Amino acid sequence: MKKIKKFIVYIIFIYLFVRLFQIGFTSKIISTFAEDTQLEKVPYQEFDYGQFQTVKLLHTETGEVEVLPLDIYLYGVVSAEMPANFEMEALKAQAIVARTYTIYQMANNHKHQEQGADICDSPLCCQAWISKENRIARWEKEEAEQKWTKIENSVNATIGKIILYENQPIKAFFHSNSGGITESSLNVWGGDYSYLQSVQTVGEENYDSYESEVKISKDELIVKMKEKFEDFEINFEQEDWIKIVEKTDTSSRVNKIQIGNKVITGNEARSILGLKSTKFEIKVDKDDIYFYVLGYGHGVGMSQCGSDSLAKQGMNCEEIIHHYYQNVEIVSY
Ligand SMILES: [Zn+2]
Repeated sequence: MKKIKKFIVYIIFIYLFVRLFQIGFTSKIISTFAEDTQLEKVPYQEFDYGQFQTVKLLHTETGEVEVLPLDIYLYGVVSAEMPANFEMEALKAQAIVARTYTIYQMANNHKHQEQGADICDSPLCCQAWISKENRIARWEKEEAEQKWTKIENSVNATIGKIILYENQPIKAFFHSNSGGITESSLNVWGGDYSYLQSVQTVGEENYDSYESEVKISKDELIVKMKEKFEDFEINFEQEDWIKIVEKTDTSSRVNKIQIGNKVITGNEARSILGLKSTKFEIKVDKDDIYFYVLGYGHGVGMSQCGSDSLAKQGMNCEEIIHHYYQNVEIVSY
C-alpha cells in the first residue's frame, strides 16, 4: 500500500511539474506576443507651419480657449473622429485631412474670431476633439496606451502634410459612412468644388453605420413637423401625404421631400426626423412611417469607414486621399 501511495504522490508531483512548466511556457508566449505587437513610437517633431504653428482651440462646454501646437491638437482630433482600431493608413489619411481642414479654417474661416479662437471642439460646428486624459479613460485599460500610441503615430508619420488644390488648402470635408457612394458638394450645399465629386467605395457595408432604420408614428411626425413649421398641416386620407419629390442623380440622396403641405430639403428632413443621412427610402405602414437609411453623415469628401475599407484593400493614405478628393496634391506644407 505504501508503495502505491508513494507512486500516486510521485505521479501527482510529475503532473504538477509538467503543468507548471506549461503555464510558464504559455505565459511566455503571450508576453512575447504582446511585445511583438507593441507599436514602435514615431517621435513627435516640431514642424514649421509658418503662421499656423499653434491652434487656439475653443472648448465649447466651458468657453475656455486653449493654445496647442498644431500636431498635438491633431492627436485629439484624430482620436475623437476615428476609431483607433481602424487601419493605420486610414488614421494617417484622417490626420492629413484634419490638418488640412484646420489650416483652411485658420486661413479662411474666422467663425470663432469673436471668442478669440481658431476652431472649436464640436463635430457639429468644426471638428471633434477630445483630451488625451478623457480619451484614455474611455478605452479598455489594457489597450489604452497602445491605442494612443497608434493615434500619435498617425499624426507624427504625416507631419507637415496637407492637401492642396490650385496651391490652396482644400475644404477637406469628411463624414462617417457614405452608404457606398459619396455626394458632390454642389448637391449638398450648393458650392461646386471640382475636388468634391461623387465617388464609389466598396466595403462600407461592413460597418455598423452603413444601414439604419427609423420608425416614426404618424402622431410623432405631426409633433416633429409642427416644432419646425407652425403652419404644418397633413391629411393622412389624402394620397401622397408623404412623397420623395427629387433625388440627386449622383448618389440618390433625397433633395426634396413632401410631407403634408410642406416641401422640404433632404437636409431639413434629416435633421427634423433624426436620420443618419439623406440617402433614404420610405415605407408607410398603417400607423407608422419607416425610413431606411444608408450611410452616416453629409456624404461629402472622405468617408471614414470607406477609407478603412480601402486601407484593408491595400491602399496607402495618399491613395485614399486621392480617391476621395479629385485632382489634388498632397504636399509638405
Ligand atoms: Zn466651431
